[in-house]
Amino acid sequence: MGEGFIVLVVLAAITAFGVASNDAQFQHPKEDRSRFPPKRYPNAERLKLTAYVVVAASVGALVELVNFGLIFVEASLPAMFSFTLLIVTVALVPIYVLLASTLRCPCCSQHILLQHTTHPKHAKNLNGWLSTAYRAALRQPFQCMYCGQKYVLKI
Ligand SMILES: [Zn+2]
Repeated sequence: MGEGFIVLVVLAAITAFGVASNDAQFQHPKEDRSRFPPKRYPNAERLKLTAYVVVAASVGALVELVNFGLIFVEASLPAMFSFTLLIVTVALVPIYVLLASTLRCPCCSQHILLQHTTHPKHAKNLNGWLSTAYRAALRQPFQCMYCGQKYVLKI
């Protein structure tokens, strides 16, 4: 128990250090395009597919989280359903990363759905990669969190 706690603290410290040094090294795009007129996003179909993967994985994770909470009131989803959902949800993560790694902002060439810093310049409130994914899934206009360029999926 004590050793597990020490391992957790060390892992948390390493993670915090990694995030901080990553943030320090991240190069923000020089050009602020937040006041430029919206553009049509070129890889709309792949972006939508990736966005659906993100939505499915986040809904799966949310159901698993609620199911975990239900254990404490001695009720939970059938084990087979919960296990299958967990496998599917976990399997969606590398699919998302693979697809998202092919989607870049044509203006600043940063990944439009991969967040490389905790504070992208144009990610106000909850406007990070998850917000971009949900906006794309709902076919709403979205903004590149790095350079601020606004995009629509069709005009
Ligand atoms: Zn951009």
